[in-house]
Amino acid sequence: MTLSQDLVRRLPKAELHVHLDGCLRPQTMLDLALEQGVRLPATDAAGLADALFVRHAQSLEEYLERYTITISVMQTPAALERIAYEFVQDAAADNIRYVEVRYCPALHDSDMSLIQAVEAPLAGFQRGERETGTMVRVIVSGLRTLAPKISEGLARLAVDYRTDGVVAFDLAGSELGHPATDHVAAFEYARGHGLACTCHAGEGDGPDSIRDALHVCGAQRIGHGTRLFEDPDLEDEVLSQGVPLEVCLTSNVHTHTVLEIGEHPARRYLDQGGVVTLNTDSRLMDRTTLSQEYWLAHQALGLTRAELEMVILNGFRSAFLPDTEKAALVAQIERELREVR
Ligand SMILES: [Zn+2]
Repeated sequence: MTLSQDLVRRLPKAELHVHLDGCLRPQTMLDLALEQGVRLPATDAAGLADALFVRHAQSLEEYLERYTITISVMQTPAALERIAYEFVQDAAADNIRYVEVRYCPALHDSDMSLIQAVEAPLAGFQRGERETGTMVRVIVSGLRTLAPKISEGLARLAVDYRTDGVVAFDLAGSELGHPATDHVAAFEYARGHGLACTCHAGEGDGPDSIRDALHVCGAQRIGHGTRLFEDPDLEDEVLSQGVPLEVCLTSNVHTHTVLEIGEHPARRYLDQGGVVTLNTDSRLMDRTTLSQEYWLAHQALGLTRAELEMVILNGFRSAFLPDTEKAALVAQIERELREVR
């Protein structure tokens, strides 16, 4: 049965994989660029949105280049607070009830301290959470292309803020030729101090990268995991053990990881009992919303309402929250899902 796009939008959702520096409002970027004397590739909001939209990058690397533009206006505490606050407002408007948002503080410390680069967004997230009711938690990302020592410093920073809303450590950035195993000390520090771990893998590189993330780095979820099917043994292991996959359909088309959404292996992973979650990766560069990703899953991958609800609950159940807090949230969402008509 075909669902309406409006009904899909009204389903309450969780998002586990989204980059703060991929979700700026174009008009906010223009305001901040003016205040800060930064040059942007366009002088109006529509032109800027176009310049940042990655239609069909040839690779993950080409896709990642767009982020240097958003990061150029994210270099003051006030800018970070505003961007974080607006991020929550936009999430709430898309009916997102719980979001784990990630970014790399080390990309924002040219004119401020790393501490400010964590505290300013936290203040914005908390202001947004208070006003909208959408729960926000933070994942600190290290980058594969930065020195492992920097990742270790970021893991320490993440641990220092684990009572203030930081729930996990992640590794992002150019995957091919930059193995996660180089950053194992950062993962060990995070895990050893009570933080959860996720890791981008199986997007710009193959199943061995997913294997490293799980077996060497101890990741509890996998960012993307798109290319998991290339190794049937690993696929069987990941799906049967219920390792959550942070799937980003539109982003995977834009990075050329899959040719079109209809060919995305998320359908196959779901059919085999895998814990698939749906996410945007970025709203600005991928020109999407979480509701749009669910709509695409319904339209292009044929997910039924029952399957969409299962994916929604997978998102809440895979959250890096304490068990009791998570159980209450899941029970509330189960009740709300029954009421959406
Ligand atoms: Zn990502």
